[in-house]
Amino acid sequence: MAASMASQAAVRGLRTTTTKHVFLDKLKYTWLNPRRWLNLQEYQSKKLMQDSGVAVQRFYVVDTASEAQEAAKRLDAKEIVLKAQILAGGRGKGVFDSGLKGGVHLTKDPAVVGELAKKMLGFNLTTKQTPKDGVKVKTVMVAEALDISRETYFAILMDRACNGPVMVGSPKGGMDIEEVATTTPELIFKEVIDIFEGVRDDQALHMAANLGFKGPLQRQAADQIKRLYDLFLKVDATQVEVNPLGETPEGQVVCFDAKINFDDNAEFRQKDVFAMDDMTESDATEMEAAKWDLKYIGMDGNIACFVNGAGLAMATCDIIDLHGGKPANFLDLGGGVKERQVYEAFKLLTADPKDECLSEPEEEDLRKLGSAR
Ligand code: ADP
Ligand code: MG
Repeated sequence: MAASMASQAAVRGLRTTTTKHVFLDKLKYTWLNPRRWLNLQEYQSKKLMQDSGVAVQRFYVVDTASEAQEAAKRLDAKEIVLKAQILAGGRGKGVFDSGLKGGVHLTKDPAVVGELAKKMLGFNLTTKQTPKDGVKVKTVMVAEALDISRETYFAILMDRACNGPVMVGSPKGGMDIEEVATTTPELIFKEVIDIFEGVRDDQALHMAANLGFKGPLQRQAADQIKRLYDLFLKVDATQVEVNPLGETPEGQVVCFDAKINFDDNAEFRQKDVFAMDDMTESDATEMEAAKWDLKYIGMDGNIACFVNGAGLAMATCDIIDLHGGKPANFLDLGGGVKERQVYEAFKLLTADPKDECLSEPEEEDLRKLGSAR
């Protein structure tokens, strides 16, 4: 139980699919990330992939139903896929509050694309990775759909236990990779990358074989893997995840989904990437905290957790949990915290109606602290 609160904070802090967490759990690693604020939509990640020569399908990004219809016409494809753009995964199995089922929709009839887009745009999509009310869909990707004969999972991520990047892959990719990691961990393959050598050809081929690519597809997949590693380095990623990395009946290896996480410390040299940051789905309190360089993650409970140091903050969340309480937040002030940050942190916590322990008298003290600055 103790690990559960801490991992809840860690997973929410990652703001990514739960996949990495599941893998790392399975592989018995501990992983506590520093904050990860940059979030890109699938279409933005795919643009970066295209620039690195990774195979993705043709697509347009739209925010109205008529643009969706127009995009479908321009694509002139045998089949079209509409994909709701939100920062959470699990869209394929998600549900809209318009009643439409599936955040990813395939159709062979371009005439219905506008109608489908109408049921997506402006509606909330709930997936197992979103809050329960879902996330409002403001953009939709209209892409060429391809038949997929097999779906695999592939990711490159930074792994503290290996002091560097590792490739993780599974021949059983697709929408339920978390399930694969839980029920058949032997189908998750790992390959440590030497940062001086990069991905060696034999390693890429070995991973491609583990993913189940055969004949000429093995070579193709290995090339995609190497390009994905080039991208990983080029954009200072901490994770590049492709689920599914699929094969088509025509013998192509294609990246059908994309999720990239970035190293915040590289912001100074990744200005173009960071300029794409989509903050519209971010929690307002978390954004305000980030402005003051505070690591804050809102949680469900009612006991404020206000601590110096991420480890101590996680341990405090666990102790609260152990004694039957629930933390309202995870707040790490950090080692070199200044008076102004403490002031702002108190402001954030007292503004949270869930925190029952901070009431009127403390607010008076707060004002004193504020005027003493
Ligand atoms: P999510 O991971 O959020 O559910 P994906 O992009 O992985 O979203 O899409 C879910 C599923 O939809 C994929 O596993 C794949 O089967 C299918 N799919 C996605 N893109 C395409 C495409 N371009 N052509 C055909 N099928 C697709
Ligand atoms: Mg996916």
